[in-house]
Amino acid sequence: MMIHPEEIFEREMPQHSVLASLIDAQDAEQQQLFNYAAQVRAEHVGPEVYFRGLIEYSNRCTKNCYYCGVRGGNARVHRYACSDQEVIEAARFAMDNHYASLVLQSGERMDLAFTNQIARLLDKIHRATGGKMHITLSMGEQTRETYRRWRECGAHRYLLRIEASNRELFEKIHPVNCTHSFDRRMEALLQLRDTGYQVGSGVMIGLPFQTTDDLANDLLFFREMDLDMVGMGPYIEHERTPLWQYRHLLPSSDVRLSRTMNMVALLRIIMKDINIAATTAMQTLHPQGRTMALKVGANVMMPNITPLRYREDYLLYANKPGVKENPEDSRDNLMRIVEEAGMKMALGVWGDSRHYAERSEKK
Ligand code: SAH
Ligand code: SF4
Repeated sequence: MMIHPEEIFEREMPQHSVLASLIDAQDAEQQQLFNYAAQVRAEHVGPEVYFRGLIEYSNRCTKNCYYCGVRGGNARVHRYACSDQEVIEAARFAMDNHYASLVLQSGERMDLAFTNQIARLLDKIHRATGGKMHITLSMGEQTRETYRRWRECGAHRYLLRIEASNRELFEKIHPVNCTHSFDRRMEALLQLRDTGYQVGSGVMIGLPFQTTDDLANDLLFFREMDLDMVGMGPYIEHERTPLWQYRHLLPSSDVRLSRTMNMVALLRIIMKDINIAATTAMQTLHPQGRTMALKVGANVMMPNITPLRYREDYLLYANKPGVKENPEDSRDNLMRIVEEAGMKMALGVWGDSRHYAERSEKK
């Protein structure tokens, strides 16, 4: 099928059937989709790519998601948490390199020692960087009170992937119990928005049991939730996880990569002014994975600034790239990727999504 993207996408509400049919677009049809997405990107977000320094703060996790290598049930993982000093040093590195924004990501813990520690750390980072850094947290589901407290301590954005917007699929990739509840995750996303965060979510692409219908619904879900940011990446199997036994059901790496790129392109077309990340997992499937994503609509990259000694312990999936790459190399590699994609690194700006700026003005 040759598509006429303008006719299809300029409708108020994109059709599910059209999105689903384009998720496996190939050859000429795929090229047409990519060209249109690139055009939308140029018009609505421009060539700038925002950098966020990523600190993989801790791999201690009370959860047991079936796909994740650092799940609490994996006894072979050496557990760590960065010291305050290490985080401050990484934040200074980010500031010196004009990233203007930090992401603190970690396994999920809700105990008071942890939530207090993060509140203190936010405060320390702001003091050490003269309040110049925008901080994004990605620390899973917390109580409304914790979200509020961290917001008050100066966290601006929060990333919480829905992982799969289809409840049945969600329940196949998580244990079904009160700590892994689809309803609770949805509620957390709404609470984050109420609390004034810029909210990001996303899904994994190429999960066992996942269909193209599911992926089309994921795209519509992002729109319905009116997200400011989306981070999606291919699902990559990990030997020491329960989903490993279903690896024979997985689409090939090529199909997963192609679906991921089509998803990024479609998302850029239906949500023109949001921030979309070119994620590390894309690079696992193809050396040019992130370059491709930038070309078809992604506008955010997250150079890893985690102290090197912890990298091997934060393996959410197998063959994660950059495990031995120090922050300087990570920076240089990502700058090269931006250049290869024909884009421009945006230095010293917070890079809030235009979408967030507009929805804040409307209030
Ligand atoms: N604990 C937090 C943040 C760390 S996990 C949370 O779960 O929200 C960050 C993301 O890594 C998850 O949202 C998930 O989408 C991704 N991830 C985990 N295991 C993965 C795998 N095997 N392949 C690809 N992505 C994975
Ligand atoms: Fe823990 Fe996040 Fe991994 Fe789930 S995905 S096991 S919450 S680190």
